[in-house]
Amino acid sequence: TQIMSRGLPKQKPIEGVKQVIVVASGKGGVGKSTTAVNLALAMAANDSSKTVGLLDVDVYGPSIPKMMNLKGNPELSQSNLMRPLLNYGIACMSMGFLVEETAPVVWRGLMVMSAIEKLLRQVDWGQLDYLVVDMPPGTGDVQLSVSQNVPISGAVIVSTPQDIALMDAHKGAEMFRKVHVPVLGLVQNMSVFQCPKCKHKTHIFGADGARRLARTLDLDVLGDIPLHLNIREASDTGQPIVFSQPESDEAKAYLQIAAEVV
Ligand code: ADP
Repeated sequence: TQIMSRGLPKQKPIEGVKQVIVVASGKGGVGKSTTAVNLALAMAANDSSKTVGLLDVDVYGPSIPKMMNLKGNPELSQSNLMRPLLNYGIACMSMGFLVEETAPVVWRGLMVMSAIEKLLRQVDWGQLDYLVVDMPPGTGDVQLSVSQNVPISGAVIVSTPQDIALMDAHKGAEMFRKVHVPVLGLVQNMSVFQCPKCKHKTHIFGADGARRLARTLDLDVLGDIPLHLNIREASDTGQPIVFSQPESDEAKAYLQIAAEVV
């Protein structure tokens, strides 16, 4: 209500970017960044005529550099904008390129906002059809600031089927509604684990919590991603599964979600 009464400040598109899709989650550790990375790759794989970028505004814990196997400082363009780093055909920008990997950054409010401003406005994306934005977890200032400053085509909310994650995902969905960002739907991550030996399926975090939440909020479930060793290993080695094992069922789950999103 506070947000509504203040009214939305003027939104300004990101230069050269046609559509911004944010990937958000209520809680950390539910697979938001893994989803953002594989979604970006899947969007590009589904339609090779589209250019896709990935912006990591999770300034507290940037994971895109590792997941996309990228390192180094962005070069500056003639107009002093940062050039994204490129891998697997995806242009990427992250706070992780601007600070040392292990440097302790004690973020204070204003620093966070100026970092976000830099990531939103001082990057030379060239021409992008889609920019996938990996948000920090939760519903804090960064999420609000991004939502209020940039026109967003839609938000994808990632949750595990666990109650505690769903409660926070619910808050996230409500926040986007308040700032008039269309919620495209929920991704239910880690919904099932199948034992590679005996093939028995276990719902470690519950089976269909995201479906229940989707019904409550009148949202779509964009897809289910299983809890799978290959997804974790692929991410940790900087070879995301949609890139490295595009024929796998796990990659296909991301490709289907990408088809739902655009
Ligand atoms: P968040 O961005 O929500 O903090 P991450 O995407 O960093 O979460 O994922 C947290 C950890 O869980 C990472 O190690 C990642 O590789 C792993 N992970 C995410 N999704 C899956 C999945 N479906 N199967 C297996 N591991 C996963």
